[in-house]
Amino acid sequence: MPKAGFKSITVSETVYDKFQDVYQKNKDNLAMKGVNSFSGYVTYMLEEMMQKDKTFARRIAEVAVQKGELFCQLCDEKDCVHIGFVFSLPDVYEILNSKGVRHPK
Ligand SMILES: [Zn+2]
Repeated sequence: MPKAGFKSITVSETVYDKFQDVYQKNKDNLAMKGVNSFSGYVTYMLEEMMQKDKTFARRIAEVAVQKGELFCQLCDEKDCVHIGFVFSLPDVYEILNSKGVRHPK
């Protein structure tokens, strides 16, 4: 039973050994980051993954054509980095240009 305030999860031996292996190899490096135990390492990895996931999720923006103008649904704007990115794609630019959609700048 884990101590109060903790919960345990069960993983296969293969998964455990793999993480343990990486942990042992990077122990010194991890200690520099304040990671001093195997469970601390797993926590650190999970935290990092979630952080990366958030960063990635923020990059997904939906850009739509509204009334002949591009509109970014993430920023709620007609001129943002995402719109700029859409215009920087040659194939997309050509289609937009042929339809008379112009970059606001
Ligand atoms: Zn945007």
